[in-house]
Amino acid sequence: MYAVNVSPILTAMAFPQTRLRRLRRTGALRDLVRETDLRASDLILPIFVVAGLDGRESIGSMPGIDRLSISAAVEEAGEAAALGISGVLLFGVPSAKDEEGSQAWDDEGVVQLATRAIKDAHPDLLVVSDLCLCEYTSHGHCGVLRDDGQVDNDATLELLARAAISQARAGADAIAPSDMMDGRVGAIRAALDEEDFGAGNVLLNRRHLPYAIPNPMLHSNFNDGNRNPPEQVPIPEVDGALPRARREVAEVSRPCE
Ligand SMILES: [Zn+2]
Repeated sequence: MYAVNVSPILTAMAFPQTRLRRLRRTGALRDLVRETDLRASDLILPIFVVAGLDGRESIGSMPGIDRLSISAAVEEAGEAAALGISGVLLFGVPSAKDEEGSQAWDDEGVVQLATRAIKDAHPDLLVVSDLCLCEYTSHGHCGVLRDDGQVDNDATLELLARAAISQARAGADAIAPSDMMDGRVGAIRAALDEEDFGAGNVLLNRRHLPYAIPNPMLHSNFNDGNRNPPEQVPIPEVDGALPRARREVAEVSRPCE
């Protein structure tokens, strides 16, 4: 079998010898040379689960998307599985919030309960859990605050690791941190390994990256969808975001000892 790669020919000659329309002439030709093949199995469906909710409620800024009760989330996950979608990404809205966001590492928290229920009903569907504290903190920041009101980066890492362990214990196949703390991926990876969840994956999740544009994820999770916490990376900092992403890829690849 031969892989078709026409690009050297295309770059070597120009019109009139090179006629790109030839490659678009039939569906079979287009399929042969296509570079991107997007299937349902490439996708993960975000689901917003609310503790104590009965059924579902609409999200104003995301027409057609609802916040769901746990049982409604199980149902929706089943529909996703039937469509061939690989997994769901769970965002949780807890029943109560506090300064530290302690519901994030509560084994009976909304994401943990939803994870267990979805894995019970659909064992082959991947469950990925969003990991941040802002859904769980009373002040809405993505980490615990120091006395001066600033987010304490390093103290937050320990809480994120605690929440990741709880999510893994509930059966999450992968943890997707979105908090943007420095060092979070390495801290979570190390905690998963220490607690014998070495096979658990850490995915990079950019929910908090592009906050200069309206972020419907925030509207979905928070009472005040317009806030811009300082821990989010502003969109004009794209050049800075790339080295950060590379560093986190290195952290996530930390070998299991
Ligand atoms: Zn957050």
